[in-house]
Amino acid sequence: MTDLLQIGGITERMRERLSAAFDIHQLDDFNADSITHIVTNGHDGVPHDLMTSLSNLKMISVYGVGYDAVDASAAAKRGIVVTHTPDVLNKEVATTAVLLLLSCYRELVRDDNYVRSGRWEVEGNAPLTRSADNQKIGILGLGRIGQAIVDKLEPWAPEISYHTRNQKDVPYRYFDNLVEMAEHVDVLICITPGGPSTNRLVNAEVLRALGAGGTLINVSRGSVVDETALINALQNGELGWAGLDVFEDEPRVPKALREMSNVVLLPHAGSATIETRAAMGDLTVDNLLQHLKDGSVITAVPECRDL
Ligand code: NDP
Repeated sequence: MTDLLQIGGITERMRERLSAAFDIHQLDDFNADSITHIVTNGHDGVPHDLMTSLSNLKMISVYGVGYDAVDASAAAKRGIVVTHTPDVLNKEVATTAVLLLLSCYRELVRDDNYVRSGRWEVEGNAPLTRSADNQKIGILGLGRIGQAIVDKLEPWAPEISYHTRNQKDVPYRYFDNLVEMAEHVDVLICITPGGPSTNRLVNAEVLRALGAGGTLINVSRGSVVDETALINALQNGELGWAGLDVFEDEPRVPKALREMSNVVLLPHAGSATIETRAAMGDLTVDNLLQHLKDGSVITAVPECRDL
């Protein structure tokens, strides 16, 4: 049997399918020379030193589409193929972005608490909320998931804008400057990959441009937003609301954010439904099994497509 190193959690279904073809090893029980395959996830990735120490490593299968925690360029140079799970989670993550947007505008958390706490009975109707209809939406990162977010929001939103490095062939307004887009829109939705090229792209200047009436939604990576600048902007009224699924130092979330009433927080649950995690798990395992069978894979990351 082939030796597979498991980093992070996998589902029972993944374990069952993998056990038929691999000897699954945990981080506290493996022989570096015999590991040829790794299954990991977008959060844990593969630590640099570990990858270096595995001289016979051939393949890394990431249970997730974001692979910024794996050095895919270094892997490609060594002929190690990295795979991920694109597309099967697009609609789910898009739903999460919409959920956060609606929760910010319609104060879902505040009003749920208003009913539960008995305040409705005592104080009468809750204060009014803001309408989520007819807001100008700006998407930072119009890739697979960004497009799925637009598909869900288009019937509600009169104007969609986007910022990416390369202009796309789409009927939405393109901004080559993120600050200018933030000035123009009511809602900024972040859905780029993580990693150095997007690190703290959403900084104090972008947040100020989004403004006191603006809402930031982040379903990308915590690293894309300068979290300290975000807290300052929310605290001093420079930014109105934030809906956040991802954070700089997960699962630790700054106390300041946890105490604010103008934020909605999720525990990195963008793709976390039973159905979508099953589809992601299947693709993660299919990539490993196919590689074992004939050396090919289904969904290599761009850096490894020519291997
Ligand atoms: P894609 O590769 O399809 O799209 C990425 C988009 O980001 C592209 O439009 C790209 O355009 C743009 N982009 C990349 N770098 C930059 C940059 N420096 N500045 C501006 N735009 C940039 O990825 P997906 O849509 O499949 O996934 C996006 C990310 O979503 C994942 O990498 C992951 O980090 C995150 N994610 C989060 C989840 C969650 O649970 N919250 C779940 C799943 C994914 P261009 O290259 O032209 O700049």
